[in-house]
Amino acid sequence: MVDILIVIMAVVFIIQALLGLHFFISSIWEHEKRASLFSGLQFFVMLALLIFYYYLLRIGFFQTTPGTVLLALAFILGICAALIFLRRTEPNKKALEGTRGYIVGTVKRFDERAHVFARNRSIRPDSEQYRTFYEEHPELEEFDAKRRERGGPIGHPGIIDRPHEGPNVAATLASLSIPFHLSTPEKYRPEQHPELKGKKMALSPEEATLRVKGYALNIGADLVGIAEVNPHWTYSHRGEIFHENWEDWGKEIEVGHKYAVVFAEEMGFEMIGPAPHTPTVMESMGDYAKGAYIATQVAAFIANMGYSATANHLRHYDLILPPLAVDAGLGEVGRLGYLITKEYGSRVRLGAVTTDLPLVPDKPVDIGVEHFCSLCKKCAVCCPSNSIPMEENQAETNGTLRWKLNDQTCFEYWGKVGTDCCICMRVCPWSHARTFSHKLVVELVSRNAIARRIFTVMDDLFYGKKPKPKAPPKWAEYGP
Ligand code: SF4
Ligand code: SF4
Repeated sequence: MVDILIVIMAVVFIIQALLGLHFFISSIWEHEKRASLFSGLQFFVMLALLIFYYYLLRIGFFQTTPGTVLLALAFILGICAALIFLRRTEPNKKALEGTRGYIVGTVKRFDERAHVFARNRSIRPDSEQYRTFYEEHPELEEFDAKRRERGGPIGHPGIIDRPHEGPNVAATLASLSIPFHLSTPEKYRPEQHPELKGKKMALSPEEATLRVKGYALNIGADLVGIAEVNPHWTYSHRGEIFHENWEDWGKEIEVGHKYAVVFAEEMGFEMIGPAPHTPTVMESMGDYAKGAYIATQVAAFIANMGYSATANHLRHYDLILPPLAVDAGLGEVGRLGYLITKEYGSRVRLGAVTTDLPLVPDKPVDIGVEHFCSLCKKCAVCCPSNSIPMEENQAETNGTLRWKLNDQTCFEYWGKVGTDCCICMRVCPWSHARTFSHKLVVELVSRNAIARRIFTVMDDLFYGKKPKPKAPPKWAEYGP
């Protein structure tokens, strides 16, 4: 019996030391100085324990009564710790219902005309739209006028990184043009290819789901889910104008599709690390371009099978995507207002295609985000414009429970730096690179409430309460 315990504990010490070594090496690879220091210390403590264990074994300590008692105690403690950390604690029933779990009152559909982006770039000061909009919203006129002086949604692109006319801005603007080109009606709401002669293909919902998800993943999506469209998350009226389609401004939006194919693309860890500097906006715009490409192609694929489909991507949204992604089972919305996925944390961009093609919806997930965010608050502490609420619990906004971001102060900061900031995304503990160590932590926190408490503290210890921007990859370096 003692021999079996000796072998089990030796295996446990070896696994611990190997995990410590892996974390140490991956922290160096991630260029996380503080985490490298602490994980290095952690590894050497584990190594010392292993060596000490070997020493006790060599001198025959475990064959003595105190040695056997110590071994048995360590074994029992290990079993208890495993049971405490590995068990699935009480699930979050609200999260398992998707966005419906968070509806506590009357939800009014959001008018896209009131969105900060639409107000910034789609209302001309000398137009009829301007007059009617600010008659209804006089409280917004002064802020919007001042903000327009700073330029479009990202102000003067890259102004934080002087000289801001550098290659990173050139790359950002190159990507930005793609969604614009794919925002023409024949692209975002495509017709069937004439070659297919109006044929409607008969597919079971299971087969259609398999084919559409597989196609989206094959052309570059990293995660795909299916949701039934909840009209609450449909914009009520069109507010974004492009290609001079002024006649659409203020039109009521009718989706008319039952299903949505929602996809996420991972945003590169190395490119988000320097946020709020230009690599982050280069990455965002590149991902929006990729999202426009995926959404447009998925819509065309579905249209070619004889069904109606509409691509939703930057510059053309019928729906608000984070709640749609929650209903499609891709993740939960965090305190910072972005979707948090188990696979990539908040480092994702979303796109979607709505359709009447019958599909099989996915189930919403509970990965522990609401509880984690109630403890963490790191994004709120680090936000330079204090736009993220600090309160522990979500509060009711427009009939739903959530942490409500101040979109105006956030948008104002974007104008100042000339990027989409992304500091909140960078510092979020869910955004770490998906190395084996981080995957293990995500697995634990997504199932266990005690692990959430421990790892919010550990994240501060290993990465700091206010982590600094990291150096960009060499090819995306910015000014001094
Ligand atoms: S993007 Fe920047 S300014 Fe906006 S909420 Fe996040 S941290 Fe704050
Ligand atoms: S930083 Fe913390 S509080 Fe903010 S979204 Fe991420 S986990 Fe939630």
